[in-house]
Amino acid sequence: MTSPFLLYHKIDRPTPDVKIRGAFTPPKAFARQLAILAKSGFSFATAGEMAAYFRQAGEFPKRTVAITFDDGWKDNLTFALPILREYNAKATIFLVTSCLGKTTDLVTADGEGPRQHLSADDVRAMTADGIEFGSHTHTHRHLHKLDPAETRDELKTSKDVIEDLTQKECVSFAYPAGFFDQAAKEEVQNAGFKIAFTTVYSHGNGPDLFELPRTEILRRDRFLFRFRRKIAGLS
Ligand SMILES: [Zn+2]
Repeated sequence: MTSPFLLYHKIDRPTPDVKIRGAFTPPKAFARQLAILAKSGFSFATAGEMAAYFRQAGEFPKRTVAITFDDGWKDNLTFALPILREYNAKATIFLVTSCLGKTTDLVTADGEGPRQHLSADDVRAMTADGIEFGSHTHTHRHLHKLDPAETRDELKTSKDVIEDLTQKECVSFAYPAGFFDQAAKEEVQNAGFKIAFTTVYSHGNGPDLFELPRTEILRRDRFLFRFRRKIAGLS
């Protein structure tokens, strides 16, 4: 089953130091992909909205996708937001809260230079624009390697920072690098999140709101026949 949650990383063109070019979707390609979705009759919802709908209906809404971005890069504002606005498309951004306002290599691939993250002011402004902010932990540590107290600290710190900035309940979560185990999953639920995402794979069969896979959109999907093929399985 194709996940209606689309996973993007960076909306930008890769710089020469970049090792994992696949994580870069050029802005023009992103615009074309949104045009295809809109033309094909898809609506756009946030992760939190999808979770709320699922709780009521026992399934996700038909012909609806949730665009998500991991890591909270500045390009989400510079390049993605104007295109999202053009298509009236909602989106959810998962922030690494210790990185807010910084240019760091904490979450770039090995050997890549530092890259700029969204700032606190950006998050406030984009919230007013209808963007939902979820947690991607405070320092992007892989949860299956932490003890419960460390996991709780990562979850609570990031959730508090986000709620303080957005003045909204922070309900959505994405596991750093997609890694989790049963203990981490329970901590995420106990921390008050309503929906949590892995990267691509999930263990379960039916949808489990705390280990949802996503449909990863990569640089090669700038070739629109590939993108169309990727979303062809959406109901
Ligand atoms: Zn990440």
